[in-house]
Amino acid sequence: MEKEVLIIGGGVAGLCSGAYLRMNGYKTTILEMGDKPGGLCMAWDRKGYTVDGCLHWFVGSTPQQSFYKLWEELGVIQGKKFLYMDSLFRIEKDKTVDIFTNIDRLEEHMVSISPEDVRFIKEFCRGLTDLIKLDMPVENAPELSSPLDGAKMMATMLPFMKVLKRWGRMSISDFAANFKNTTLRNAWLTWLPPEFSLMAIMFTIAWMHKKAAGYIIGGSMEVSNSLEKRYLDLGGTLKYKTEVAKIIVEKDRAVGVRLVDGSELRADYVISAADGYTTVFDWLDGKYVDNKIRGYYDDLPIFKPLVYVGLGINRDFSDYPQIISGTYFSLPEPVEISGKDRNGIALRIHNFDSTLAPKGKTLVTMMVESEYGYWAEIRKDLNTYRAKKEAIAQLAIKVLDMKFPGAAAQVEMTDVSTPVTFKRYTGNWQGSYEGWLPTPEVAMLRMSKTLPGLDSLYMVGQWVAPGGGLPSGAMTGRHIAQILCHRDKREFVTTKPA
Ligand SMILES: Cc1cc2nc3c(=O)[nH]c(=O)nc-3n(C[C@H](O)[C@H](O)[C@H](O)COP(=O)(O)OP(=O)(O)OC[C@H]3O[C@@H](n4cnc5c(N)ncnc54)[C@H](O)[C@@H]3O)c2cc1C
Repeated sequence: MEKEVLIIGGGVAGLCSGAYLRMNGYKTTILEMGDKPGGLCMAWDRKGYTVDGCLHWFVGSTPQQSFYKLWEELGVIQGKKFLYMDSLFRIEKDKTVDIFTNIDRLEEHMVSISPEDVRFIKEFCRGLTDLIKLDMPVENAPELSSPLDGAKMMATMLPFMKVLKRWGRMSISDFAANFKNTTLRNAWLTWLPPEFSLMAIMFTIAWMHKKAAGYIIGGSMEVSNSLEKRYLDLGGTLKYKTEVAKIIVEKDRAVGVRLVDGSELRADYVISAADGYTTVFDWLDGKYVDNKIRGYYDDLPIFKPLVYVGLGINRDFSDYPQIISGTYFSLPEPVEISGKDRNGIALRIHNFDSTLAPKGKTLVTMMVESEYGYWAEIRKDLNTYRAKKEAIAQLAIKVLDMKFPGAAAQVEMTDVSTPVTFKRYTGNWQGSYEGWLPTPEVAMLRMSKTLPGLDSLYMVGQWVAPGGGLPSGAMTGRHIAQILCHRDKREFVTTKPA
């Protein structure tokens, strides 16, 4: 008889888990509170524009990167058009600094700005070049690895020990402190949170250099719709507008879920592909935690929630370079957003994807890191909340107009999401958009997919894979299917879509 699995959440991790479990003969039902697939990997339509709420880069877009195999099994790669842009991020302050995706060009550019840092820049770029060859295996669940697998992993890593040792413990602020030149130092600190792991960004640049992390034309819904299709084609059940309120536990075993309408569903296993905090502390009343897990939620930094603005502009911006993550524009005077003064803001001009706007027009987005508590407080009064959102949209328009004169008069659509919006639509703790922030220490953590003392409950997705991102969904989804197959003494198999 087929074993039954209930999966809470139809985001990337839920859909990937479902697809891999279906490949292995489990009877799966995904319960999703929203009405579309994808969770955070989402886009929404506004006045003829598509406000893309996620996709910057897709790790594993070519076979040179180990995630490719997973995306192929999941039917995401097939038929997609990838774009590889020259610049990852641009900082326009006193000088313009581009984080180029080609390592040689990045080196030349940084040296041209700061000849005094030539030795350090060359050393850094040599490190990036070394990493191009490192492809960490992601296929197999570490929970099931044998000593032989461990030895193989060590053998893979061995040639890279020097580069990992040199840069692996550095945060962005440690790294930036090495530059004598203030323009370069400030550029790196402007782009990324100071505590962010340098190694995480070095891998990203190395993948981009070898064109293994591209942008998918069509954006986030290309990923989410493909995953939904793959899962349904494999015979999985997916229920939208179905919100889970509790995980039902009997004799320390998860046996099902209770929905907000009071109905109950039962299964052999429950997988939470939804928010970690809600799973552990709300749905299970915090009964199955130890100090380690409590410590994560007490102490670890998260990707701060965003104020996310979408603007529809009747202009093609074809005269501006295509830049993956956008441009930071410094401002003549600080502006207040989310209770904090900012010396500049970053705008992402989606002139690289014409599918997101009507012909000749362009989607522009702005993402500003913020605090959940600030917005939760303001949201108590809807008029104030709406006024704050409108003020931020106007600010984004003002900055755009300052840099692209006439743009204010070309605005046709504005859309503002806050951390409260992210929480409401995806359930993520504090409205976080990618889970645990990978500091050098956090990036090395291996988090458990089970909870102490509780049987048959598993967790997948960004809250058990520090650094989060779309790959965390594919990886933990594959691993959880391997873990259940192992438990049920079945051989784990995969198929590719026809
Ligand atoms: C602006 C932005 C840019 C990003 N850029 C990138 C990028 O370029 N590359 C990249 O790899 N990643 C990027 N990410 C991160 C990536 O989108 C996430 O890390 C990833 O999608 C998380 O997937 P998940 O399935 O683990 O969680 P989620 O997407 O949060 O999925 C959880 C699902 O559970 C559902 N749910 C929650 N509570 C309940 C309930 N009670 N009942 C039923 N269902 C429930 C939610 O509705 C949601 O669908 C970005 C994210 C954002 C917001």
